Amino acid sequence: MKVKAAIATGQLQPLVVDEVDLDGPREGEVLIEIKSAGLCHTDQMLIDGSRDWPDYPLILGHEGAGIVREVGKGVTRLKEGDAVIPLAMPECGECPPCKSNKSNLCDLYFKPRDRKPFSWNGKPITSFINLGTFAQYVVVRDFHVAKIRQDAPLDQVCCMGCAGITGIGAALNTARVEAGSSVVVFGLGGIGLNVIDGARLAGATTIIGVDTNTDKEAPARKAGLTHFLNAKDFQGDDIVTTIHNLTNGGADYSFECVGHPALAQQAVNSSRMGWGTTVLIGIMPGAITDTMPIQPRSIQAGRWVTGSYLGNIKPISQFPELVDWYVEGKLTQDNLISHRFPIEQINEGFDLLKSGKAGRVVIDF
Ligand SMILES: [Zn+2]
Ligand SMILES: [Zn+2]
Repeated sequence: MKVKAAIATGQLQPLVVDEVDLDGPREGEVLIEIKSAGLCHTDQMLIDGSRDWPDYPLILGHEGAGIVREVGKGVTRLKEGDAVIPLAMPECGECPPCKSNKSNLCDLYFKPRDRKPFSWNGKPITSFINLGTFAQYVVVRDFHVAKIRQDAPLDQVCCMGCAGITGIGAALNTARVEAGSSVVVFGLGGIGLNVIDGARLAGATTIIGVDTNTDKEAPARKAGLTHFLNAKDFQGDDIVTTIHNLTNGGADYSFECVGHPALAQQAVNSSRMGWGTTVLIGIMPGAITDTMPIQPRSIQAGRWVTGSYLGNIKPISQFPELVDWYVEGKLTQDNLISHRFPIEQINEGFDLLKSGKAGRVVIDF
């Protein structure tokens, strides 16, 4: 079938919106009509030159929500008409991480795959992380697809498959924020707001947000922020001292949601010696082999530093509960979406995201 999609043709090139061909679902695959898709910084990094990527042209997009329109042979868990969210992380149910309650990092995520359902001008093209949600329809393997409740508003929960699961999961599953604790969040974009949502749900009583854009304060306060610090008002490590003062000695939990090495160090130093936990969420720029300095003394002082990928939440068996929470009014997802565009204006959306002025930007089909 012919579908409209946004195609990345290389670094520092605007996305091209054009018709592409989409192959129907084969065994184990499903065809999903995407209703809304979120723009994420991880997509942005493959457009603005900040992350190495060898394979263009490419259909970006890894956040979205839609309806199953056709299922391939052997698919029994999903049926036509189901409301779904496709996620970057599969859950095969068979590999050691899928069978363990310690991680969501399914072994299949790291296995390269040859199948390319999209083609453009007669040549097969890659869909980012096997998804490619900046297209009207996608064909994905069923173990990438979370079935969600039918009454979930797809135009609101469309950001939960990356920003939502990542932020809420980092607070609840990775850091395991406790009631009465103090939290500091560096970067109040889509991920940061969801970390705040998760921290509030966990009962954190001090939630400090750091950003350079004061427009981010109001939505963050709605999510549960108690203190806003404008990074522009501080010199050097003064912000670390201020966080220590606000938390009586350092935050119990700190989260780096930007992907900046200097902020990662500040996040670690802002946490309390002895037990403070820092979760690194933001994807750092550059190559996958690049290194990042963190002062050994700050770790030797009994702090914990960890990473989190999609919030350490399993996409099929655990993630749908988060959508239930949204429908039940426990989350503030709609508050984090700041702009909506048709796919023809997707480049405008990325410009806004890059400017730091936007929360989450959404494309509606
Ligand atoms: Zn993302
Ligand atoms: Zn698995």
